[in-house]
Amino acid sequence: MLPPIVTTIADVRAAVDAARAAQKPIAFVPTMGALHEGHAALVRAARGFVVVSIFVNPTQFGPKEDFAKYPRTIEADQKLCGEAGASLIFAPGVEEMYPTNSVTFVDVAKLGDHLCGAARPGHFRGVCTVVLKLFNIVRPDVAHFGAKDYQQARIIAQMVRDLNVPVEVRVEPTIREADGLALSSRNRYLSADERAVAPRIYQMLQATRVRAAAGEIDAARLESALAADLATIPGARVDYARVVDAETLQPLARLDRPAVAAVAVFLGTTRLIDNLVLA
Ligand code: AMP
Repeated sequence: MLPPIVTTIADVRAAVDAARAAQKPIAFVPTMGALHEGHAALVRAARGFVVVSIFVNPTQFGPKEDFAKYPRTIEADQKLCGEAGASLIFAPGVEEMYPTNSVTFVDVAKLGDHLCGAARPGHFRGVCTVVLKLFNIVRPDVAHFGAKDYQQARIIAQMVRDLNVPVEVRVEPTIREADGLALSSRNRYLSADERAVAPRIYQMLQATRVRAAAGEIDAARLESALAADLATIPGARVDYARVVDAETLQPLARLDRPAVAAVAVFLGTTRLIDNLVLA
């Protein structure tokens, strides 16, 4: 069944209130649309009245980024949401989410300063602001995020803790193509040649995990080996290749606690991110 699409805050609130009155738990999956199996897995993991938001959020894109050409595929998205069991789609316009003269933003210090935060100034401020707004609009009991955006999931969890937002954040595993490439709405930008080499990003993260398991505990050495590996991919430009504390995302000298290897790599003009927890 195709889930209805509502575009106003009033309509999504009315639908959620009705579901809550019927004793249904409210689950929420925020997305930017151009949905794929990674998003579908989040929807399938959700229980109760499942709201999927589809909103390409302008405040998380830099001036030179792909906001204008970010793929918008609402009909296919609605079908995928229906097949995955979503109850309602909230697809607001920019004016509904950002009426003129809103001047309040949410900034999660420290966690958002490096990795993707360093490469994309203001990105996580935009993400946190829109996610908190969406939480306040939908008021879900549980919200589902993907481990593919590891830093984002950590930052949202921290925001929820710091600001006492009454929602449970759950992080679901990264869904990959058979060859290991993490599913992403941006994969459709890849040329055939870029798509052919893209799975090497994940292979190199796995090689990092093998090195760590074999006893390499020096994070800097793991990072430079990973960056060197990534640089061998034809057409690749490494944005970052880091091995950081899995909880705080801060740099670490030695792997004496759980760590995550996180990378961002440009293939042509397409920026792909991926990560792998090492221990
Ligand atoms: P996006 O539409 O890219 O903003 O992503 C919306 C949500 O889907 C975020 O929580 C992402 O982490 C999650 N997501 C995107 N790709 C994947 C994937 N391959 N596996 C699991 N979750 C994903």
